Amino acid sequence: MKTTNTHTQQKAQMGKLSKPIVEKIAIVGGGLGGLAAAVALQKQGFDVHVYERAQEFRPAGAGLGIGANGLNFLAAIEPSIVEDLKHSGCDVRQAILKKMTGETVQSNPIRSRNLEKYGQPFITIWWWRLQQILASKLPPEIIHLNHRCIGFEQNEKGVEIYFEDQKKVYADLLIGADGLRSVVREKLIGDGTPHYVGSMSWRAVIKYNQELLKPDELVFIKGNRQRMFLLNVGDGYICWIFRKLSSDFSVSDSATLAKSRVLNELAGWDESLRGLVEATEAEQILEGPICDRAPLTHWSKGRVTLLGDAAHPMAPSLGQGANTSFEDAYELAQCFSQSSSIEEALTSYEKRRIERTQIIQTRSALGEMRYYETDSETSSRQTQEQSQTPTREEFQDWLYNYKPFLTSFAV
Ligand SMILES: Cc1cc2nc3c(=O)[nH]c(=O)nc-3n(C[C@H](O)[C@H](O)[C@H](O)COP(=O)(O)OP(=O)(O)OC[C@H]3O[C@@H](n4cnc5c(N)ncnc54)[C@H](O)[C@@H]3O)c2cc1C
Repeated sequence: MKTTNTHTQQKAQMGKLSKPIVEKIAIVGGGLGGLAAAVALQKQGFDVHVYERAQEFRPAGAGLGIGANGLNFLAAIEPSIVEDLKHSGCDVRQAILKKMTGETVQSNPIRSRNLEKYGQPFITIWWWRLQQILASKLPPEIIHLNHRCIGFEQNEKGVEIYFEDQKKVYADLLIGADGLRSVVREKLIGDGTPHYVGSMSWRAVIKYNQELLKPDELVFIKGNRQRMFLLNVGDGYICWIFRKLSSDFSVSDSATLAKSRVLNELAGWDESLRGLVEATEAEQILEGPICDRAPLTHWSKGRVTLLGDAAHPMAPSLGQGANTSFEDAYELAQCFSQSSSIEEALTSYEKRRIERTQIIQTRSALGEMRYYETDSETSSRQTQEQSQTPTREEFQDWLYNYKPFLTSFAV
């Protein structure tokens, strides 16, 4: 894919800043949040470098949904990201709710509702494709693969970042965008291992052509304390995600055992759904416990800050992990281009981001458990919640209508 941000553009942008408050910015983690932040900061004229532990960018991750808030912020970072995303992913027309035996229970319009309410579609895409799109907006020489961060030291002049194999780099600012098990967060905050929220997940992306999933649909299947999702992720690939409420969060000893675990769970389910898992190569299946962490009140110290899952890992029930990372990326770049010191920029970044993401983290943890309610548990909860505010609809409006430059809504 072609690089759209040339050095000439970068220099022209740099000319707009009389004196940048930082010169070199190091981002640890070349996932969705880290790359989006790199594009946003580069557009503001900063000399930004991304350090990623992977040896190459190759097919990885599963399918995910990008909603109105994520799309608005990606467009504010670089409009062509959204164009590419819409082109590569699936613009979902409707969501179908099915029983585990295959019968349709309900079908909800997604495209018309989202366009009408939030002015944006809902796009499902493969994590890896989105990573490729974001990387294509950066000059390749600023992405340093095979750099696994193991720590850092900072003083008032800068940050020294250490990688495996004795590699080290020096920067004015370090952004930890290294995901749920962030090494940067561990060194900065030291809050230990992530917290298991109570459900396990198995996911895979495969090329699979059949009637199970129409090209513009999203399917949810409700089992007994289990959920399965089918997503089109573009180019004829579909992603299946199987989730289960479970006190056992152990990971299988082999890929084959992980696959048999899902197939055992699917005993009694519609044959076509089992067939989907059977058709998946065991090595393609990502198995893992769903985890989050308690919200933090600060993300930064000195010249180091956090972004994305490293800052606010959340259960995936609201599908907001990547979406909120794009909000972080844009806001962080804005704060650095508008402030006169690192301290001011990071204080302003935290002010703009922490309250909102705390609410989303808390709601996501609650939502994760609600996934597995029986129908009668759901209806008795909804009766109890009838008089509560914000209503579900108000919360969704607050979540998806969030746009660059808007102030936050207190929930
Ligand atoms: C089942 C499931 C479904 C989901 N669905 C959605 C959804 O629908 N919508 C949504 O918005 N989000 C969803 N998410 C969440 C989303 O995938 C994450 O929130 C998002 O990928 C976070 O981006 P990130 O850049 O912060 O971290 P990541 O995407 O995890 O990227 C971190 C990067 O850092 C690199 N790295 C890690 N450690 C180091 C190190 N020591 N040194 C250097 N590099 C390192 C990794 O290799 C990786 O490339 C889902 C998550 C799960 C588990």
